[in-house]
Amino acid sequence: MTHFSTLAIHAGYDSADCTNGNAAVPPIYLSAAFDMQSAAHGDALSAGAAEGFSYSRVANPTLDVLERRIAALEGGRSAVAFASGMAAVSAALLCAAEGGGRIIAARNLYGASVDAMDSLLPEFGIETDFVDDINDVRLVESLIGPDTRAIFAESVANPSTEVADVAALAEIAHRHGVALIVDNTVPTPYLFRPIELGGADVVVHSTTKGISGHGNALGGMVVDAGRFDWATDRYPQFTRQEVVVSDDRNDDWHSFASKFGIDAYIRRVRIKYLRTFGAVASPVNAYLQLLGVETLAVRLRQQVASATAIAEFLQTVPHVRAVHYSGLALAGDGHAALQSASQNELVRRDFPRGVGGMLSFEVDGGREQVARILDGTHVFAYVPNIGDARSLIVDPARIRHREVSPQFRRMSGVGDNLIRLSIGLEDTADLIADLEQAIHGAY
Ligand SMILES: *Cc1c(COP(=O)(O)O)cnc(C)c1O
Repeated sequence: MTHFSTLAIHAGYDSADCTNGNAAVPPIYLSAAFDMQSAAHGDALSAGAAEGFSYSRVANPTLDVLERRIAALEGGRSAVAFASGMAAVSAALLCAAEGGGRIIAARNLYGASVDAMDSLLPEFGIETDFVDDINDVRLVESLIGPDTRAIFAESVANPSTEVADVAALAEIAHRHGVALIVDNTVPTPYLFRPIELGGADVVVHSTTKGISGHGNALGGMVVDAGRFDWATDRYPQFTRQEVVVSDDRNDDWHSFASKFGIDAYIRRVRIKYLRTFGAVASPVNAYLQLLGVETLAVRLRQQVASATAIAEFLQTVPHVRAVHYSGLALAGDGHAALQSASQNELVRRDFPRGVGGMLSFEVDGGREQVARILDGTHVFAYVPNIGDARSLIVDPARIRHREVSPQFRRMSGVGDNLIRLSIGLEDTADLIADLEQAIHGAY
């Protein structure tokens, strides 16, 4: 078996396949379309019968390398890249729930995901049953009905860092023939692999975050484990005959399931959601993400070490009322005792390398004190992003207030006195000193 850091550098690309010069680094193919060479090859390409490229809205060689690499890092079978994390989340959910399906999801999801499921997908006939605690598997199971198409969870929630019990969710989902879709953006596959460790069927990413790692390129990814049976009555979209996968001139009719078998879902994501909705990533962004992913393991190791040190430090600072960093379960002694035993247990079982570089904390007072802290930092930048090499600070109540209704914000624990940090790669001592002076100066 090839290990994570080796795959991060090599998976999905062989310089021998790059016929135009054997480039050591995957080249940027800035070509909207590709020469199909012969009428027969063109016909096979458009029928999906031949491997290759014809038009970059469907597939592109630079994106292809990124897709293969992230699929390898996640232990998945295949992947489709999108222009942003939200494009990937939307496509993954729609492809499962299209045509009047229901989704079960936690209320403390990423803001734009909640907004999509709460206020936009219902306009397309897709409803979501929200739960306060996604690890309340009995409640989740009780909500599974004939129209339920997916359970959707974030492996590590933003900004609380609460971790989901992916294995328990997979078990109940599969018992009912329902797919489990996991947003694995926050930990990245270096820290957690929902397909391998938990039995998730589909993993989605905002590759904008830790995978890129430098805050310079938007991107998203849908990764398919290739294990789930979509050819059941619950998912009529996969067994319906469709022109796009058929050869009507020869009266050879197919559904996605009959044509692609175990790849029915990921092919539908590409052929329906990427090709017709068109949220295609730029090859330049894919190149930046391939560059970023090469250093994923070393970046995450440093960010987890700094985030843990900062979480421990914040627990000692006057005016800090609570620190939310489930990774403290690994810090031992008194630190971990502050959070729930079940969270500590899950972190120790599934996240031995840590939960990531994001954490949040609550301070005395409210908006005014938070604003003074935000304005008082010099190393931390006030930027609404995570997973960057730069350390970032935000007030989630303000930056999320247009996306998430007040009721949802309260229920997901996002109050006016909450501050979120995304720990970068600066020196840990400088980050601690910056927070210390900013918090001290705010009171
Ligand atoms: C950022 C983020 C998204 C959305 O990704 P974009 O690339 O900003 O569209 C989705 N899920 C999580 C957990 C995120 O952090």
